[in-house]
Amino acid sequence: MAPAVLSDFVSWPGVATLAFSTVFYWLSNRSGQKAKELESVPHLNGLWELGKLLESSSSSSSSSSSSSGGKGARSSLASVSGRVCSETPLKCENVPDLGVIHRSITKEVFMKKNDKGEWKRDNSTVTDFTRETQWHLEDGGGKAKVHVKDGKGATGLQLKAVFIGFESEGSSAAGSDGSDISIAANLIKAGADFWQGVKKIGTEKSEGILPLGTTVTCVGEVSKQVSSSPASSWSGSTNDYVLQRPIRGPFYITTQTMPELIQSLSRSSKRWLYVGLGFTCLGSYLIGRKLFKAVMVEWRKKQFRDAIRKKREGGGEEEEEEEKTTEKTCVACMENKYDTVFTNCGHMCMCYACASKTNGKCPICREPSPYKRVYEA
Ligand SMILES: [Zn+2]
Ligand SMILES: [Zn+2]
Repeated sequence: MAPAVLSDFVSWPGVATLAFSTVFYWLSNRSGQKAKELESVPHLNGLWELGKLLESSSSSSSSSSSSSGGKGARSSLASVSGRVCSETPLKCENVPDLGVIHRSITKEVFMKKNDKGEWKRDNSTVTDFTRETQWHLEDGGGKAKVHVKDGKGATGLQLKAVFIGFESEGSSAAGSDGSDISIAANLIKAGADFWQGVKKIGTEKSEGILPLGTTVTCVGEVSKQVSSSPASSWSGSTNDYVLQRPIRGPFYITTQTMPELIQSLSRSSKRWLYVGLGFTCLGSYLIGRKLFKAVMVEWRKKQFRDAIRKKREGGGEEEEEEEKTTEKTCVACMENKYDTVFTNCGHMCMCYACASKTNGKCPICREPSPYKRVYEA
């Protein structure tokens, strides 16, 4: 019988499953770390607390991240909540809504022929612009403003969809004035589309904004705004702060509250952990089962060989012949030469007469399998 090879013992799907589980553990760990990171960020009940926080962080200056500004610039990681405000809000193109971050996407919608010759609707993004104006957070107190810098890059930012529209291809075509030439041109174009397997049917436009007046929670590095322009000195009694992406650390803009955000991160961490554990169990089971079966197969092979050898010795046959005879003897009757293969597993160990009495189960691996007689030519 053929010697065992590595793949007889190792379940490769099992190994792959275990490898997948490490990816899920990594995801779980990452979400968990993000949640912990956010838990350590001080949350302010009002923007007026910022002054106090920055003073205390400059005196202790232990855990706070380094500021990008010059000497004397105090900064600290913080989480603040407030209403979105701006003196120069952005207008949407198709609706009257005002916002501070605006994203417009144009997609070409077309029908595409797949391999089976069916036409399926598909789309591709043609343009995707995000604009951001100068904006800040305010709370009811009116004593402080927090200017958010480059908020469009923040994690967790979800824009409100304010517009989605579709313009079909025919209505926008410039040359469709009904003249013979334009009809002919459109026919040629349609023909070309057809042969290419792609037919454009229209354009989809959508707009999303972070609307004025939305209450959001921002996490980032907060520092006192350095009044460099004369305009900011006019702001009088209000305190101006800047919130921006820290060099290292969390940068979030979310409509969730801080506890909600932390909870959702912990939840996703747990979810990934359970998925990872599930994959580990499945992988271990697959590997264990395959290994157990392979060991049993080897053990049965040995049992059969020993039984045949014993019988031969009892018969008092010559020693040189022994190896040859045990090697090709039917494991059931121990008389005939084996000539029947179980086609699922490939084990050849029985004569056809004995195999016919097995109910189609291979005696080595005990799995049901069709069997077939083989002839040496
Ligand atoms: Zn037999
Ligand atoms: Zn078998």
